[in-house]
Amino acid sequence: MSESRHTRVLIIGSGPAGYTAGVYASRAMLSPILVQGMEPGGQLTTTTEVENWPGDTEVQGPDLMVRMEAHAKAMGCDVVMDLITDLDLSQRPFTAKGDSGTTYTADAVILATGARAKWLGLPSEEKFKGFGVSACATCDGFFYRGQEIVVIGGGNTAVEEALFLTNFASKVTLIHRRNELRAEKILIDRLMKNPKITPLWDHTLEEVVGGENPLGVEAIRAKHVKTGEITEIPAKGVFIAIGHAPASELVADQLELHHGGYVKVKPGTTETSIPGVFAAGDLTDHVYRQAVTSAGMGCMAALDAERFLAAQED
Ligand code: FAD
Ligand code: NAP
Repeated sequence: MSESRHTRVLIIGSGPAGYTAGVYASRAMLSPILVQGMEPGGQLTTTTEVENWPGDTEVQGPDLMVRMEAHAKAMGCDVVMDLITDLDLSQRPFTAKGDSGTTYTADAVILATGARAKWLGLPSEEKFKGFGVSACATCDGFFYRGQEIVVIGGGNTAVEEALFLTNFASKVTLIHRRNELRAEKILIDRLMKNPKITPLWDHTLEEVVGGENPLGVEAIRAKHVKTGEITEIPAKGVFIAIGHAPASELVADQLELHHGGYVKVKPGTTETSIPGVFAAGDLTDHVYRQAVTSAGMGCMAALDAERFLAAQED
């Protein structure tokens, strides 16, 4: 049955930004509702060890997010399993429609919808998605025990995924479009020391090749960026790790965006182009994109929302 719920602060997203906003908004006695979306806990649930969360030398990403959820709930945040499918920011109170049928109205909204994995857009990548092509090593790595795998990308995610996949694979080829990795030095050192990983520099993925019946990957064709020469590499799994794009589709035609889809905020704040709407985390940050910076922005968003609501009452 459809239901309507009003809240002072609606938080959309359950990554580090959303849960931290939940903790702060609850402690400000704003009784926030937090809608979790399709990925409760956000991107960190797709990884294993997190080594740069202050206070934990090493923590498993999914465990950290379970703890953040519990923390937000313990402070009084109403954490709801739902997906916002439509958001109307044209007038206050703002209105959000949930996939569950619930309509949420809110005096202030904190957007913390984060980012999603990018794909290359090749027809063969699309064809084999879920049948050998994946964007999540922790989700799918287990299926490739003793097999050869390729990883595409040169950032932290690609290097971490390549390292993680050596737990299962007989060989991992890391294909990068340049001859220099973007990843942190500590990760590059681990990569270079791992005997199971072979980097293939200056190459892009040209095509995923596989069988039809059953549908499955057999090899990939990689193209040299300068010479155009094609190299075929046997592989049962292809992991695409070429970065993430902000999940801003709910607000794309309502808020000012920049850098290809990131929600623009007033420098030093989380204020968007609409008063009462705040944005935090990977949704707005094209530079740092870390768990700790997202959590920091979640805190800022809750404090900004609190000040905004207090000013409305003056
Ligand atoms: P996200 O974590 O992206 O969460 C977004 C949330 O929004 C999700 O809960 C989703 O369900 C929700 N959502 C989206 N759309 C809707 C909707 N329509 N309705 C309701 N909810 C919605 N950073 C580090 O600091 N250290 C690391 O070791 C590290 N490792 C990483 C490993 C991997 C594999 C990846 C992919 C990223 C890693 N990062 C790491 C980056 C870090 O995960 C992100 O910076 C951080 O998660 C961003 O937090 P966020 O709260 O902005 O959004
Ligand atoms: P990223 O840093 O944006 O790196 C994306 C990589 O993919 C780059 O090497 C890029 O190449 C390559 N690439 C992009 N588009 C491509 C294309 N069309 N074809 C071929 N290659 C392509 O993304 P990320 O690695 O997912 O990291 C995202 C954020 O999360 C970063 O801020 C990162 O620090 C953070 N993160 C942190 C950790 C950690 O702290 N341990 C772990 C994972 C992620 P170029 O280098 O040539 O641009």
